[in-house]
Amino acid sequence: MNPKRLRQKHHQLFGSEAELMVRAPGRINLIGEHTDYNDGFVFPAAIDKAVYFAVSQNNKGLFRFYSVDFDEYFEMKVSALSRSGTVWANYLLGVARQFVKAGHAIRGVNCVFGGDIPVGAGLSSSAALETGFAFALNRLFNCDESLLSLTKMAQKAEHEFAGVMCGIMDQFAILQGKKGNAMRLDCRSLDFDYAPLELSETRIVLCNTKIKHALASSEYNSRRKECEQGVQILKKYDPSISALRDAGIVLLEEHRTELGETVFKRCKYVLEENNRVNEAFPALQKGDVASLGQLLFQSHEGLKNEFEVSCGELDLLVDLARRMEGVSGARMMGGGFGGCTINLVQKVHTEDFAKKITESYRKATGTSPEIYVVKIAGGTGEVMI
Ligand code: ADP
Ligand code: MG
Repeated sequence: MNPKRLRQKHHQLFGSEAELMVRAPGRINLIGEHTDYNDGFVFPAAIDKAVYFAVSQNNKGLFRFYSVDFDEYFEMKVSALSRSGTVWANYLLGVARQFVKAGHAIRGVNCVFGGDIPVGAGLSSSAALETGFAFALNRLFNCDESLLSLTKMAQKAEHEFAGVMCGIMDQFAILQGKKGNAMRLDCRSLDFDYAPLELSETRIVLCNTKIKHALASSEYNSRRKECEQGVQILKKYDPSISALRDAGIVLLEEHRTELGETVFKRCKYVLEENNRVNEAFPALQKGDVASLGQLLFQSHEGLKNEFEVSCGELDLLVDLARRMEGVSGARMMGGGFGGCTINLVQKVHTEDFAKKITESYRKATGTSPEIYVVKIAGGTGEVMI
């Protein structure tokens, strides 16, 4: 994607120059999966794949959007702002709705956008769309919203217009990511610490199954409910528990029968995953890639067996990675049921890893995964193009 093309397209479609160009990256998450909506800990970073936006105001009272990647135009009256039948437009409309709710006068908006974040791969292209557009509206209409409220508006857009009850991690990392750093985020207090991702001899390699099973978003919402059910039961015995983040494994074991096997497993995974994030942070600070890698493998086991959000294709990629030379760790990443695995691979073995995992995966499934070696980039911002 050449962002200059977006400028040209903007001019061609709307007859005027874009007033603003914005870049919003995708994100990885080293560890801490499905913990954000349990008030827990996560460890994400923004990457060098992004969505770009060329935007301007119009005085026609219209939302006029063009998706370069889908080659589709969408238009709606600002006065009629509501969910539409065009799925991709909802991510932008959902954001606009939050601005209106916050009392901002959003007049007409022209927006041409496109990028290179693989869609539906667990790199959060949806949050990049929301966050980037929120950043753009804030600038375009001088709304003076803080980074934190932009983060929350983008999250709300996903809840209300995409119907996915996501946590805060994706929008947070996409907005406040920092080049060369991962961020350990406390999803309750929203305090965060950057940790330099100086893995000099290690590369972060993503393997994209290119699959997204249809049940991904319904299962996401049902996992959220199961976690809430766990909280409802546990808080009867310890009123200080308002999220799984507050519960301990002993209490969980004590009430295993009442929780039922499914809810018990979900809760156990979340508790253990939170602990893993808190072990991963010092490991990374010490440059202890071996320990970090082991935590990734453990995370995958939990996601597969206890949280049950993996799938055959993801398990296959992790099993293949486990047996390959130079791999310190691997796990599925994102909501699950498809998308990518994240792998920590020694630099000297990266090429070999990519070749061999592609071959073995193709032999087993008949399709090739896509492999990306990602760099850690900065968060959302204006770009001069
Ligand atoms: P993920 O966030 O993991 O990439 P989602 O299913 O949550 O996957 O979001 C993907 C959806 O976001 C797409 O179906 C599309 O509607 C929208 N989207 C993402 N990137 C783009 C893009 N570059 N152009 C148009 N729509 C996009
Ligand atoms: Mg998404």
